[in-house]
Amino acid sequence: MKRLVLLILIAALVAAFFALDLGRFLTLDALKAGQATFAGWYDASPWLVAGGYFLLYVVVTALSLPGAAVMTLAGGALFGLGIGTLIVSFASSIGATLAFLVARFLLRDWVQQRYGERLGAINQGMEKDGAFYLLTLRLVPVFPFFLINLLMGLTPIRTGTFYWVSQVGMLAGTLVYVNAGTQLARLESLAGILSPGLLASFALLGVFPLLAKRLVAWVQARKVYAGWSRPKRFDRNLVVIGAGSGGLVTAYIAAAVKAKVTLIEKHRMGGDCLNTGCVPSKALIRTAKLLAQIRRAPELGIRSADAELDFAEAMERVQRVVSTVEPHDSAERYRGLGVEVIQGTGRILSPWEVEVSGADGALQRLSTHSIVIAAGARPFVPPIPGLDEIGYLTSENLWDLRELPRRLVVLGGGPIGCELAQAFARLGSRVTQVEQLPRILIREDPEVSALVTERFRAEGIEVLTEHKAKRFLVEGGEKVLIAEHGGGDRRIPFDAVLVAVGRVANLTGYGLEELGLAGGRVVETNEFLATRYPNIYAVGDVTGPYQFTHTASHQAWYAAVNALFSGLRRFKADYRVIPWVTFTSPEVARVGLSEEEAKARGIAYEVTRYDLDDLDRAIADGDAHGFIKVLTPPGKDRILGATIVGEHAGEQLAEFTLAMRHGLGLNKILATIHPYPTWSEAAKYAAGAWKRAHAPQTLLAILERFHAWRRGGDMSKPG
Ligand SMILES: Cc1cc2nc3c(=O)[nH]c(=O)nc-3n(C[C@H](O)[C@H](O)[C@H](O)COP(=O)(O)OP(=O)(O)OC[C@H]3O[C@@H](n4cnc5c(N)ncnc54)[C@H](O)[C@@H]3O)c2cc1C
Repeated sequence: MKRLVLLILIAALVAAFFALDLGRFLTLDALKAGQATFAGWYDASPWLVAGGYFLLYVVVTALSLPGAAVMTLAGGALFGLGIGTLIVSFASSIGATLAFLVARFLLRDWVQQRYGERLGAINQGMEKDGAFYLLTLRLVPVFPFFLINLLMGLTPIRTGTFYWVSQVGMLAGTLVYVNAGTQLARLESLAGILSPGLLASFALLGVFPLLAKRLVAWVQARKVYAGWSRPKRFDRNLVVIGAGSGGLVTAYIAAAVKAKVTLIEKHRMGGDCLNTGCVPSKALIRTAKLLAQIRRAPELGIRSADAELDFAEAMERVQRVVSTVEPHDSAERYRGLGVEVIQGTGRILSPWEVEVSGADGALQRLSTHSIVIAAGARPFVPPIPGLDEIGYLTSENLWDLRELPRRLVVLGGGPIGCELAQAFARLGSRVTQVEQLPRILIREDPEVSALVTERFRAEGIEVLTEHKAKRFLVEGGEKVLIAEHGGGDRRIPFDAVLVAVGRVANLTGYGLEELGLAGGRVVETNEFLATRYPNIYAVGDVTGPYQFTHTASHQAWYAAVNALFSGLRRFKADYRVIPWVTFTSPEVARVGLSEEEAKARGIAYEVTRYDLDDLDRAIADGDAHGFIKVLTPPGKDRILGATIVGEHAGEQLAEFTLAMRHGLGLNKILATIHPYPTWSEAAKYAAGAWKRAHAPQTLLAILERFHAWRRGGDMSKPG
C-alpha cells in the first residue's frame, strides 16, 4: 500500500512536470535568458536563492527529471566555481540517493523475486565490488545519471556506500559542468561541454578504479609468497595430491594438454568413491535390492521365492566389484595417459615444492609451477562419550565386515546414513536410524523426507528423528546408546553402530598448516578454485561446497586449466546446474532448486507435479509410487529445479539436467518423442501437466465457439 501511494505521488509529480511543460525552464536558452534575473535575486537574498536552488536540484534529480545538466550549469553561473561545485556536489548526491532509495523501495523486491536466481552472480559481484563498479560509472559521465541511480537501487549495494561513492565519483564531472556554467555566455550547446578529448580522459579515469583494484589484488596475491623462495625453474607443471575423483581427473586433463604432471596417492588409487564410497555402497545396495524384490515376489504372481543371504559372500562380491572398476583408476592406466604416478604421501613444503615419502621411506622432492590439492575428506566422528570405547563403524571400515550385525544403529539421516540404513535393513539387520534434526534427508523438501521415511518404516527401519545421541555404554554385556528426545532419555540396545553424520576435509599433516591453508573447515578457494596462493588450487571434498564424485571431477577441469594457463585465461567454476542422487528406494534425485530453497531465497516459482503412480511403466513394474516436482518461474516453462522421488529417479533426472544446462524449457521436453512405455516418459507427462495448467483459456474458448460453428451452431455461443 505504501509503495502504491509513493508510486502514485511520483507519477503525479512527473506527469505534472511534463504536462505543464516545466522542462522549458531547464534548457540552455532559458538559463541564458534568465541569468541576469537570477543573479539579481541572488544578490538580494543569497541564502534564500542558494537554499531554493539546492532544494530544486534535489527534487529534479530525485524524480529523475531531465535537466540536471542545465541545473549544474546554473550553479556555476550563479555561485561561481567554488560554491557552485560545493552546492551541486551535495545536492546531486542527495538527489541521486533519494532516486536510488525510491527504486529500491518500489522495485527491488519484485526484481529480486522474479529474477533472483539469474541475478545471483550480479548480486554477489555487487556485494563484493559494488563500490568499484559504481565509481567507474560515476567517473564516466556518458552513463546516464538517472539510470545509474535507478539501477543501483535494484542491487544489494549499501545506501551509505552508494552515497559517498556517488559524491566522490561525480566530483570531476560536476567541476567540468560548473566551470562551464561560469562561462555561460560563451556556451553554444550542452554537447559542446564535453569535448572528445575530455570524454576520453573521463573514460580513462573511469577505468582507473578497476585497474587499481586489479593491481591491489595482484599485489596482495604476490604478498602471500613473501618469505618463500621461488625456484628459478620447475621440474613439473603440476603436482596433484590425492588420486580420488578430483585428483585423477585433474591429472588426466593436465596430461591431455601435454603438461608434465605428477599424481601422488598415499593409499589406494581411486580414493573414497572407488574404495569406500560410491562403488561399494552401490554394489551392496544391489544385493539388498534383490532381497527386497524377492520378498515382494508374491505381488508379481510368484507363490514362493526364498533367498538365503550369505553376507560374507555379498561383501566379497562388493570387493570384486571394486576390483573390476579398479583398472579405470589404476596407476598403470594413468601412466599410459602420460601422468607420472607416485605411490606415497605428499607434503607441501613451499608453494612450489612437494615432498613425497614413499612406502619404503624414501624421500623425493618435486618442484612445480602449480599444485592441486585433492586430498578428500573422511567421516566425521562426533565426540560422544563412550563412542571410542565401544568401537564403531564408518564408511571406511564398514567394508571389512563379514558378519551381518543383528541390531545396527545408524547415526545420521543424510544420504550416506539413509542408503546404508536401508541396505542393512534389507539384508536382515534390525536397523535403528538416529537423527537429531526433525527429519531425515534435511536438504530435500519435507514431502521427500516424508515419503522416504514412510518407506523406511514400512520396511522395518526404526527412524528416530529429533533424537540426539548422548552417550554410549555397555550394560550387562550389551551395547546401549542413550539418546535424548523431548527432554527425556531413550535406551537403544544394539550390536553395531555406524557413524554417518557428515564428512570433514583432510587438512592436516601434509603441509597445509604451514602454508596457512588449514584454518577453516575446508581449504578455502575462490571462484577459480585457487587458494590464497594463486598457484595452489583445491578440488573435491577437501574444498567443497559439494561432496560428490561428479562435482569433484567437474571442478578438476577448472583447477587443471586454471593452474596450467593462469596468466593467459582463467575460468570460474560453474555450479549452476548440479544434479545429485540419493540411492535409497525410492531414489531421490534433484537438480537445481528445491521448493524450500526457492522460498528461502525469495525466488518466485510455480510447482508442477506429476505423480508416478499414473505412469504406465511404473504400474507394470509394480513400482507405482513417487513423484516428479518441477519448479518454474511463474508463467514460464524455464526449469528452476526438478526433484524426482521414485524408482530410477537418478536416470530420469538426466533429462531435466540436460534441459536446465542448455536452457531447454518444459515445452521442449513435451515436444520430444519418448518411447512407450518407459520411465523417461514421466518427464514428458510432467511437462504436459505444466502445459495444461498454462493452456490459453481465451483462445480455447474461441476455439470452442469455432468448432460449434463448424457443426452448424451459433458462433456467438459456446457448446
Ligand atoms: C559411503 C559413501 C557413498 C558415496 N556415494 C556417492 C555417490 O553415490 N555419488 C557421488 O557422487 N558421491 C558419493 N560419495 C562421495 C564421493 O565418494 C566423494 O565426493 C568423492 O570421493 C570425492 O573425491 P575427492 O577426489 O575429493 O576425494 P577422495 O576420493 O577422498 O580422494 C582423496 C585421495 O587423496 C589421498 N590423499 C590424501 N592426502 C594425501 C597426501 N598427503 N598424499 C597423497 N595422497 C593423499 C587419499 O588417500 C585419497 O585417495 C559417497 C561417499 C561415501 C563415503
